[in-house]
Amino acid sequence: MTQPILFSPSIISADFTRLGDQLKEAEQAGADWFHIDVMDGHFVPNLTMGPFIVEACRRATSLPLDVHLMIEAPERLLSAFADAGANWLTVHQETCPHLHRTLETIRGLGMKAGASLNPSTPATTLSEVLSSLDLVLIMTVDPGFSGGKYIPLLDKIRTVRAWRDKGLTSALIAVDGGIAPKTAPEVVQAGADVLIAASAIFKHSEGIRAGLQSLRASIQRIPA
Ligand code: ZN
Repeated sequence: MTQPILFSPSIISADFTRLGDQLKEAEQAGADWFHIDVMDGHFVPNLTMGPFIVEACRRATSLPLDVHLMIEAPERLLSAFADAGANWLTVHQETCPHLHRTLETIRGLGMKAGASLNPSTPATTLSEVLSSLDLVLIMTVDPGFSGGKYIPLLDKIRTVRAWRDKGLTSALIAVDGGIAPKTAPEVVQAGADVLIAASAIFKHSEGIRAGLQSLRASIQRIPA
């Protein structure tokens, strides 16, 4: 059986003056998870949000919260994000010299463990931790700001998908960056399961529901 495609709207493009309403609207439109991009101004140039916002989202929705830590030394904050209500916690491979330990710590805190790869980082940097991964998050932009230029890393997606098809990992494959109706079909065809999208959903000219619908429609047109 193939894994259904999951939609994880990234709140980085939401209207923060009315975040709770925006989450409800996306939930009613069929969002599966919410993606929260945490940036520290060091590992990536931008600064965004921390456990406080995760905790606010937790009160606004019962959907899984998928938290993406683009921060240095993420091991300092794993329990803070667990306490805030994160369900999936993803660290960057580039920030974790003890990646195995970090992933197992995340699981030990009761969350699903993910590892993310910058566009320039090869998939093979995860090959020794495959059984500790619940999610592999492939960045399809250079991370830091919403609206970066999409990079078609289809071979990287195919590599991770082949590992799962061979039973080497059970990790879901997420793609993050520049995901829109134009790019979604090719990443799904390459093997992605989780589509993270920010502006394509929250900044769609006809609203959140239309944004999610057009993303969903784009992958329904993929020939079988
Ligand atoms: Zn992200």
